[in-house]
Amino acid sequence: MNRFPNEVQIVTRRRAGVFGVLATLGIVWFASPAPAADRGNDGQFDRRESSHFVLYQDVDIDERSGFHGSVRFEREVLRILEAGYDRLDKFLGLRPRRPIEVVVYDPDAFAAQFTGLFRFPAAGFYHGVIRVRGDTVASAQLERVLYHELVHAALDEAAPNYRYPAWVNEGLAEWFEMRSFGKRRLSTGELDALQRAAAQNALLPLRALSTPSLGHLDPNTARFAYLQSYAIFAWLANSHGDPAIERFASDLARSRNLDRTLRRVFRTDMRKLEQEFTRYLGG
Ligand SMILES: [Zn+2]
Repeated sequence: MNRFPNEVQIVTRRRAGVFGVLATLGIVWFASPAPAADRGNDGQFDRRESSHFVLYQDVDIDERSGFHGSVRFEREVLRILEAGYDRLDKFLGLRPRRPIEVVVYDPDAFAAQFTGLFRFPAAGFYHGVIRVRGDTVASAQLERVLYHELVHAALDEAAPNYRYPAWVNEGLAEWFEMRSFGKRRLSTGELDALQRAAAQNALLPLRALSTPSLGHLDPNTARFAYLQSYAIFAWLANSHGDPAIERFASDLARSRNLDRTLRRVFRTDMRKLEQEFTRYLGG
């Protein structure tokens, strides 16, 4: 309902070394990449809170943008996140109750720590905590990445033990990101690429997109997998209306049963969905 973000309440601001942050975040997962300190950055983070988020910002960003620029940047990031939170409710019926932790890294530190985790370049990812490559300004690109990762965080919070199939998790994240920016349909280029693939019988099988993540795919296949996953939800939203997507996301998070949710919301199953989507693309 609310198209405007909540006022962001700045609660605290304190500095924490990387170990403080890691302890706070409960990161086990950091064990594989070398800690920040080993990669030439100082591993210091500013902490700032809003109603639904705890933001940790790499202090190296302060040095790039100047202290006051950095405070402005942090406030802007929290404003974007709170606006995204309102949209999560509006478009996906998700309202995470626990504060969502977001770490914004200096771009060099992000590259140093996380390159190699994915086979394709990533600007952010979610693994219990949202981690994004920062910038000195809250760019539209950063906003899109934050919106995308917010969906992963909200779905995980709603059903922590459920492994969403990647086409659902990534498809909803892409659809939410695009829909929030007013994009309701596939672009001509996107539609062309999908129609070409459908004509060559080269769409990716939904079963192959049902792994928990797409991180193992090579860059070209990954790009196409994200596009196809997004296209499924854009197509569903256009044929059933946006509220059906909201019902699908919130019902799935509640029931953790994809077959039942597909049946209830779209009167379909995986096999039929795949056939109808292929037919829609002319394949
Ligand atoms: Zn994603």
